[in-house]
Amino acid sequence: MKVEKSSQDLESEVIYAGLCIHCGSCNAFCPHMDFNQETGEAYVVDECAETVGLCYNSCPRSFLPIKEIEQKLFGQTRVDLAVGVYKDIIEVKSKNKENVLYNLVEAAFNEGIIECLVVRNTKSTKPPLSFPVIVENAKDAKKYIPEKSMDNAGPLITGIGQAYKAYKKNIGIIANPCHLQGLGKILAGDFNTGAEKTSLKIAYACSSGGMAGCKYCTDFSGEFSDITYSPMGAPKPAVMLIIRTDIGMKVIEAAKKMKLIEITNDSPDLSEMKKFLNKKRKKNFRTLLGTSLVKAKYLSLSVDELKDIIEE
Ligand code: SF4
Ligand code: SF4
Repeated sequence: MKVEKSSQDLESEVIYAGLCIHCGSCNAFCPHMDFNQETGEAYVVDECAETVGLCYNSCPRSFLPIKEIEQKLFGQTRVDLAVGVYKDIIEVKSKNKENVLYNLVEAAFNEGIIECLVVRNTKSTKPPLSFPVIVENAKDAKKYIPEKSMDNAGPLITGIGQAYKAYKKNIGIIANPCHLQGLGKILAGDFNTGAEKTSLKIAYACSSGGMAGCKYCTDFSGEFSDITYSPMGAPKPAVMLIIRTDIGMKVIEAAKKMKLIEITNDSPDLSEMKKFLNKKRKKNFRTLLGTSLVKAKYLSLSVDELKDIIEE
């Protein structure tokens, strides 16, 4: 999976086209990109001579072969069109004064699943902008645990590159679905990077991260994560956890064993979560499709004309 395009194409097709979601994937292992420190916008630092650019091939908004990435990450394609691949979905609540997300981090460190964690360090809320910080234990992670998906807006995937450069082996990350689309694409790609040192990907379910490019986003549930954390769709104080991989299972088992979390429903009703999920997907698919489908064979059709079919 390598496309013969480079930074100039990334600029014209993604950044200038308003699709960029400041995820940091293009710059995680490539020095020719950087981010505006006030807005988080990606920009090309200098033109490189690569014809097959790592930046372009890492970006989740240049092209996103979802089935191919799922095969490489999970060994299968999705079981649910909207939720993605998963092994289990449970409702849990915290058994102490910390929140569930922090407790998962504590379990992952304690179990040796991660030796460091990439988390957000908020720089501004208007516009929402965080840069990555790398912490080496749960206690240090505490003040950086996001409280909403908007806290994660910013080039967090650059933190994976930074951790790799610091010779970290088992790198964890808490990020939004779009960040993990970029990371998943790098992991499934044909470039040699350090991304394979990532040992745990926790997604924060996201209905919007507050960036212009969010209106083109159709991933609510963090489809390329090991575990997705969703406060949306569960009765408070419980949260929904979507567990997708064996590593995700291991973290949940460790958190249960350490009495950090308890399962409140092992077979939860997904309808509330799917209300958030489908609202976002439906709205943003329409934005992606545009107002006319000029490539529909001999007809030029509008989305409104197809409303009944699309909404079935
Ligand atoms: S990789 Fe992320 S930050 Fe870079 S151009 Fe693509 S969307 Fe923007
Ligand atoms: S809506 Fe959320 S997941 Fe989607 S691009 Fe925006 S921040 Fe990322």
